[in-house]
Amino acid sequence: MTKFLPVVETFHSLQGEGFHSGKSAFFIRLAGCSVGCSWCDTKKSWNSKKYPLKSIDELSIEIKNAKENGASFLVITGGEPLHHNLELFCKKIKQTNKSVAIHLETSGVNELSGAYDWITLSPKRHSPPTNDLLKLCNEVKIIINDEEDLIFAKTIKNKIFEINNQMKKNEFNKLSKKNYFIQPSWDNKNGFALAMEFAKTHPDWSLSLQTHKYLNIK
Ligand code: SF4
Repeated sequence: MTKFLPVVETFHSLQGEGFHSGKSAFFIRLAGCSVGCSWCDTKKSWNSKKYPLKSIDELSIEIKNAKENGASFLVITGGEPLHHNLELFCKKIKQTNKSVAIHLETSGVNELSGAYDWITLSPKRHSPPTNDLLKLCNEVKIIINDEEDLIFAKTIKNKIFEINNQMKKNEFNKLSKKNYFIQPSWDNKNGFALAMEFAKTHPDWSLSLQTHKYLNIK
């Protein structure tokens, strides 16, 4: 079980994108990612060896303090957070402060570890997510660079429908409600135009923008 995690940064800010955009949140950016997206805007996080290990006790106290200072929830992001086993970390967080909601942002390439109040799945074309993550996520966010990404968005949604159809009825009600977002890759004019047109013509999808980048905040 992981008692120490490599941490790129922790900060209290506003969630900039997706379903919870605009809300006060405390972020923990874990280091390490081998997914290798060419357009990644956090390449600095890829090499976990560059970052100090922090104990889960120390991180849990930071989360508790942020909660007392107004953070509505915690976001565990990366890198790819699920490259690490987060079971013990999630337990520790809830032990230290039961009321803190834990959100996870993941590409879904690894098995799920830990327990979450909200999962944002951002699957990647070149490294597809596990069926479990497709089933358990609350929010799907596809990054749009080109037309192939729009096809991928539809493929992912169809796959989720297939999985839903195989679920038992009692599971279905809880897990079937998902929120679908397309988000243009930052600084990609073609991605912006494609995502906007797609959102206009596909009302089951919403446009997500990285508002924190427009606001020049973290
Ligand atoms: S999964 Fe996320 S952190 Fe990893 S390379 Fe892709 S965009 Fe970057």
